Formats: sequence, structure tokens, C-alpha cells
Amino acid sequence: MNRRTLLQALLPLPLAGIAARALANEPAAAIAPLRKTRAQWRELVSPAAFRILFDEGTEPAGSSALNAEKRPGTYLCAACFLPLFDAADKYESGTGWPSFTRPIEGRLGTKTDFKLIWPRTEYHCIRCGGHQGHVFDDGPPPTGQRWCNNGLALRFVPQGQALPELRT
Ligand SMILES: [Zn+2]
Repeated sequence: MNRRTLLQALLPLPLAGIAARALANEPAAAIAPLRKTRAQWRELVSPAAFRILFDEGTEPAGSSALNAEKRPGTYLCAACFLPLFDAADKYESGTGWPSFTRPIEGRLGTKTDFKLIWPRTEYHCIRCGGHQGHVFDDGPPPTGQRWCNNGLALRFVPQGQALPELRT
């Protein structure tokens, strides 16, 4: 083995290791944005869900069946099906909206984190940009945060059922 082939044999391993660690620290970087027109989304979601997701609407308090949902499982973005919340982080906030102490890491974007023009406290699905809700700092431990979500912007999949493929 000459010097050149020895270098080629040795280099890829440590470089691959560094790349893998960087990805693990930045899960949002691995999620490619899904871009669709408003007309395309209008064909895929209900009119009520469209108003929440793409016109920044808010559903009436107490109107979502997900308020009473207590089973373990996963909450997906109702538009693109990206998993956003684990049911283990859901709690009863008494506000009339499904509430969580934290999202799945890297799945929601705010102005602070991702340089969007939306107000700081509003959050959106990092993949499709669909509006989900607002985050407040009056939540319970362990985070002290209250991620207050519109039920119409979510789809619940109970534990043990297969998650749908991401919409493309
Ligand atoms: Zn989405």
C-alpha cells in the first residue's frame, strides 16, 4: 500500500463520524421543506383546517375532540403529517386547547430559531410552514412552557398504529 492509498483508506472514517454527529445535533437540518401553493393545500385539508394552518386562524376554545385525548401516541401536522408532539408531553392546561410542555425537537419553527417573519410566540411546522399555535412561558415542569395548539392543525395516531407516510 503506497502513501496515497493509505490516506484514502484512513480519511473517510473519521470524516463520516463527524458528519453523523453534526446531523444528530441538528435534527431540523435533515427535514427538507415541503413547498405547496395555497391552492394545493386547499385540496388536501378541510376548509376549517386550512383557515388554521394557512390563514393563521384559531379554533374556538373547547372545540377540539383532542382536548380529551389521553392515550399514548403521536401528534402529527395535519397538513404534511410530520410528527410534532409526543402524547407523553401533553397535559391538561384548562385552556380548551390541546397543550404540550414541549414539541419533538427540531419540528417547530419560531422567529427566534429560524429567522421567519412571524411573531416570536407563534409557531409553525418546520416542514410545511403550517401554523400550529402559540407558545407561552406559563407551563408546568419540566420545561415551564405551554405549547398551545389548535386541534384542527393536528392529527393523532395512537401508539401501536402505523404513522402515515409524510405528504409529498
Ligand atoms: Zn407540516
